[in-house]
Amino acid sequence: MIPPLAFVTRLDVEEETIWLEILRRAMPDERILPFRDMTEEERRLAEIAIVANPDPADVAALSGLSWIHSLWAGVERLVLELGSTAPPIVRLVDPELSRVMGEAVLAWTYYLQRDMPAYRASQAEGRWAPREYRHPSEMSVGLLGLGALGMEAGRRLTEAGFRVQGWSRSPKALPDIVTLSGEEGLDSLLSTSDIIVCLLPLTTDTRGLLTVDRLMRMPQGASLINFARGAIIVADDLIRVLDRGHLDHAVLDVFEKEPLDQASPFWSHPRVTVLPHVSAPTTPSSAARIVAGNIATWRRTGALPQTVDRSRGY
Ligand code: NAP
Repeated sequence: MIPPLAFVTRLDVEEETIWLEILRRAMPDERILPFRDMTEEERRLAEIAIVANPDPADVAALSGLSWIHSLWAGVERLVLELGSTAPPIVRLVDPELSRVMGEAVLAWTYYLQRDMPAYRASQAEGRWAPREYRHPSEMSVGLLGLGALGMEAGRRLTEAGFRVQGWSRSPKALPDIVTLSGEEGLDSLLSTSDIIVCLLPLTTDTRGLLTVDRLMRMPQGASLINFARGAIIVADDLIRVLDRGHLDHAVLDVFEKEPLDQASPFWSHPRVTVLPHVSAPTTPSSAARIVAGNIATWRRTGALPQTVDRSRGY
């Protein structure tokens, strides 16, 4: 009999049960066991753990693990909590997740391009105040991050007629997107984008990346969308730049502490749209298919998809 798969989460029981059902349906030949139901022997035998916000002590108790599959795309917390000696981590790379994020980036870019925050404000004041139409081809959208999510967002934006430029750690060549890297590339992207969309992973290099100095390099009246992680932007600096009126609007889906603190000035700031981390939720059925495919390939060939590079942090 093949060793069981450990399912290790800190989800509430109801959510964990739903995930278990979906995972078991996607892998009918596997025996998937929630960590708390596993015997000592089963914990020793498990070679793979499927995890969602796991307790690191539970993962450490699985002494025979060869690798770990995360159900989420962002793994900064997992990498930090499991430490450098943990087995290789595979994160979720799911075309459906990229599609959902691409849709969100396009929707909220349109929200800014069509001046919806300004129209909402003028309606509240009973003011009839038409604004000049801005054609997408006259607007430059700067993507911070050109990974699984950034690439799909770039595709959707170029298809919609926006001018798109993207920034990544390693240089890239793409047909329809101006690509930039390094500090100079970041400067250039910030200073020439009408809308910046952040889709970077949170790492030691990206934490606190968007400081007041960098935000002030963006053109007067530009806007920002953060769909990645809150801590990439220095929150107080963003408030300062919005208060000065240098940036027009920020759409924020992610925050350093979630749920966002009641006392946060973001809630009531007229230049901020707060979203409760909803830009790209994982779709369980497609995520389970991806996880099942990766596990089947490993059982058959011993090959893993690309794993998280701990030195880079993503
Ligand atoms: P990914 O495929 O790993 O791509 C990351 C991109 O960021 C790559 O292009 C990478 O450059 C670039 N990058 C990383 N560090 C950099 C640095 N120091 N300087 C410049 N560029 C850097 O990640 P993904 O799947 O697109 O996901 C991105 C993030 O989105 C996740 O980490 C997660 O935090 C967030 N997310 C949010 C939601 C939500 O609902 N809000 C949902 C899913 C994911 P290279 O191409 O050179 O490697």
